[in-house]
Parts: sequence; C-alpha cells; structure tokens
Amino acid sequence: MDYLPIFLDLKNKNILIVGAGNIAFNKIKLLVRAHAIINIIAKDICSEIKYLLNQKKAFWLDQEFKTSYLRNVYLVIAATNDTKLNKKIFKKCSEFKILVNVVDDKSKCSFIFPSIVDRSPIVVAISSGGTAPVLLRLLREKIEGILPIRLGNVAKIAEKWRETVKKYFFNLLERRRFWENLFNSIFVQYAINGKKEKAVSHLKKMIKNPNKLIGEIILVGAGPGNSDLLTLRALQVMQEADVVLYDNLVSQDVLNLIRRDAKCIYVGKRAGLKSITQEKIIKLLIFLAKQGKRVVRLKGGDSFIFGRGGEELEAAKNENINIQVVPGITAGIGVSAYSGIPLTHRYYSQGVIFITGCKRVDNIANNWSILSDDSYTLVVYMASLKASEISKQLILHGRLKSTPIAIVSQGTTLNQNVIIGRLDEIHKIFKFSISPSLLIIGKVVLLHKKLEWFKSAINFNNIKNNSSIINI
Ligand code: SAH
Repeated sequence: MDYLPIFLDLKNKNILIVGAGNIAFNKIKLLVRAHAIINIIAKDICSEIKYLLNQKKAFWLDQEFKTSYLRNVYLVIAATNDTKLNKKIFKKCSEFKILVNVVDDKSKCSFIFPSIVDRSPIVVAISSGGTAPVLLRLLREKIEGILPIRLGNVAKIAEKWRETVKKYFFNLLERRRFWENLFNSIFVQYAINGKKEKAVSHLKKMIKNPNKLIGEIILVGAGPGNSDLLTLRALQVMQEADVVLYDNLVSQDVLNLIRRDAKCIYVGKRAGLKSITQEKIIKLLIFLAKQGKRVVRLKGGDSFIFGRGGEELEAAKNENINIQVVPGITAGIGVSAYSGIPLTHRYYSQGVIFITGCKRVDNIANNWSILSDDSYTLVVYMASLKASEISKQLILHGRLKSTPIAIVSQGTTLNQNVIIGRLDEIHKIFKFSISPSLLIIGKVVLLHKKLEWFKSAINFNNIKNNSSIINI
C-alpha cells in the first residue's frame, strides 16, 4: 500500500492555501465541508473564491508567500502556476513537518486527496495513488450508485442511541449482533426515507426484544485461490463472522476479505511443520460456537470435496450446534475452467470422477477397473506422492500409456502452471510442479490447445529437451 487512508479532523485548524485559481477552489470546497479555518495567500483570486470570501468562509491575504506564514499552520496546499514557488513551499513544509500537497505534483505531496463519496457521517474515500484517475472516477460512480443519498440518516440515528444500546447490552458480542440485526431490518428503509419516528420506534422494539445470542458453525468453501471465485454468500458470511478458522489452502487474497475485527485462527496443516490435529480443530469449533459466536470454518475449494467438512459438521450436529454450508468452487472445477480443459465432452468423455491420491482410510480401496475406463475423465487431488502408483495401476487395468494428462499447479491464480504430458510420464512431470497441484487424466486434456485462455500450458516434451523454459 503506497498510501494509508486516514481521516483528518480539520475542524478549527489553520489551513494555508497558496494560490486562488480554479484548482485551489476545488480543494477549498472540500476544506469548507470539513469546517477548517481557511487562509488564502494570492495576488489574484477567481470569482468562485470571491464568493466564498463574501460568505466569510475563508480569509484572504493579498500578499506574496513568505515562510513566516507557515507558523501555526496544520496543513498547506500549494496551487500556484509557479513551479519554483511550489517547490519552495514543499521544501519548507517538509522541514517544519507540516502536511503539504502541491496540487498535481505527486512527488511534492506528503498526502494526497482521495476521491470522496460523501454521505456524512458516512464517508467513502478511494484512491488510485494517482495511477488511474479514469478508473477511479468509474469506481466512484459505482459507489455513488449503491449508497443511498440519505444513508447518513441511518448513522445519525445510530449515534444518538449508542449509549442507550450500550447500557442494554453489556456483552460486546450481543451488542454487535443487535446492531447487525438492526441494520439488516426495515429500520434502514425508514431512516433513508426520512421516517425518523418509525425508525426510532423500530429500534426501541428491537432493544426490548433482542434475539438471543445463538452460536453457529458455517462451513465455507473459499474456492481454489483466486478471490474472484468466492461466492457472494461466502463474502457475506465472512463479513459477519466473529471468528474464522482457516486452512492452509485459503489464499491471502481471500483472507483479506474477512471482516477486519473477526478473530482469525490458522488451523492448517503445512508439510514439515507441527500442526493442529483434526480432533483439536473440532473441539475448538464447538467451544467457540457454544460461546454464542458465529464461527466460520473456511476451507480451500469446496468443504465437502476432500475437505473433511462432513466430519466437522457431524460433530457440531452431535452437540446440537446450528450449522450452515456455503459451497465453494472445488479445485477440479476451477482448474478445468482456467486451463481450458472441459471435464466432460460429448465426443471425448462421458463423465468425470474425482479421486484423491492420498488415501487416509486403508480399507477403502480404489476400483482400478472403473478408473481405467477411458470414457471417463479422472481428476486426482493430492496426487503428487502417489503419482507413480496411480499411473502404474491405470496402465495395468487398461488405460493407454499415451493417455494425455495435465498437471496444474496453483490453478486459477496468476501463478498457475499447466504441464501437458502422457500417463506414463506422470512422476517425472510432478518433479516440475509446485504445490498445490491437480492431475487431470483423459482425452479432454487435448482440448486445452484450442480452449486455453488464461495462461498458456507447457508441453512436457519441451521441458525434457530444454529444462530452462519453465520457471518454477
Ligand atoms: N477441498 C479442496 C481440496 C482439498 S485437498 C477443494 O475442493 O478443492 C487439497 C488438494 O486440492 C491439493 O493437494 C491439490 O491437489 C488440490 N488443489 C487445491 N487448490 C488447488 C489449486 N489452486 N490448484 C491445483 N490444485 C489445487
């Protein structure tokens, strides 16, 4: 992050603006809204600023800039055409540790003005750090469109009732739940439609009849890594969570979308590191839910596909804890889309089978005859350790050695890597892949040549002949 957005309280603070043309006026308008004391130094002033002076919203000194004017000033804006003067102002302000903005010269700014959507007291500030003003304008228009004009009314009523609500709900969790329920109720419509009395009476009703604090466990599939692939429901639930227990495969991009105040607990299993056992995870989930917390269990892909989601929910049900499940895009589906390999196709594959290469329960054996039927596509999760065994069994039971395969690493992300090869080369190809990676076996793999759209695949033959071409 190049700039940290913070909100400044400029009420009754001395601000100095050097220059009084249209550019200065644009900044002054904002400063007037922030109730700052506005002092302008300039020889000439534009008509809009004259109007503000008449309204006593700013003071004007008809002088050249002098360093002594910086005394007792909190923030300075230089908006003159004189680059030398702008430079001098920036230098002096930096020396005196005064916040300074030389308009339209990012290199001479200790802060920049964001684009603002004002629904005071709700204010949204966005910035591209000066990189893409047009994109910023489009984003701002979108935000303007989704925030009701009178949204501020909602916050104003809430502010008035904050202390009373605090007295009724000592417990922080109960208090937060009260506000969430209120803001998800008709209260908001009343407030933005100007029906203040109705809004307040609804609020009072909800204070007197609060919902009991009931914990729950929500199993959420976080998808294969690319945060664009989260479902809308997953995002909502992540925004309402009190606690989030997340796995190794959940990407940082997804984690960044969790409600900022939610407690995040890493319970993943990383190769080579001591990790928390499944039993402990289940105990922790139940313990937190019993405290009345909304516990989100965030897992890579889909929680019901090789994710042990079923086991965790069974345990929760045994303890009579409320549960919800939010599906996620499983790696097989995500990787298929992002590598241009349709898992079924009328001419090449009549169906798809998802299996795991990592067998945890010994008495459940793979039926190799079915898996070797080449009218089905086979998708193998966690295949790297058993790659040789898988290819040996499939060939033994009838799949051709030359069956096309794809090994896709870090699928759907910008680091996605796809290597195409043959079934009898699996174990060699895995040496070139990084974790997590998924194996796709079947004729549909050949379609990637025509259908790839995200990142190009690499043919294993090229790697064999020139091992420097992939960079992993
Ligand atoms: N519940 C998860 C699977 C967990 S098992 C899901 O539905 O996707 C973990 C395995 O998933 C990894 O070993 C790997 O085979 C696969 N996997 C997960 N994310 C992946 C990704 N982005 N690219 C390739 N394979 C992935």
